[in-house]
Amino acid sequence: MGRDEVWYSGGVRFQCLECGRCCRGESGAIWMTDEEVRRMAEALGLEEGEFRSRYMTTRWGRQSLRERANGDCVMLDPETNRCRVYPVRPLQCSLFPFWRSVMRSRDRWEEEARRCPGMGEGRLWSVEDVEERLSRSPFPDL
Ligand code: SF4
Repeated sequence: MGRDEVWYSGGVRFQCLECGRCCRGESGAIWMTDEEVRRMAEALGLEEGEFRSRYMTTRWGRQSLRERANGDCVMLDPETNRCRVYPVRPLQCSLFPFWRSVMRSRDRWEEEARRCPGMGEGRLWSVEDVEERLSRSPFPDL
């Protein structure tokens, strides 16, 4: 599909409002590369094996962060509503909402936007900006 044909050819607006909703209350997958696992373990001062047994699981055949029983990401600090490992958070988190699974249709974007108040607000991301973000995902089917 050419750039003129995608539904977001005119760009989309998005700015994170730091509400933390995308980190809360829903079971899903935060896939991580081995390098991301190592960096996050180091940031928390844990051996990699300890980090894996405390915080990792498998989702759809790949290693993923897990959630608490209430669906919140295990890395979300419940008191501050902040990510405990923000500087080394997984690329999947930092690329949101520019995931292929979200950008594949306007309906999917609008569905996701019901949960994320930053979608449709703030900065206009051009089709080139969006595609640059999509191309950075370590998981092409994300
Ligand atoms: S739900 Fe959207 S606005 Fe809220 S923290 Fe996540 S990306 Fe930012």
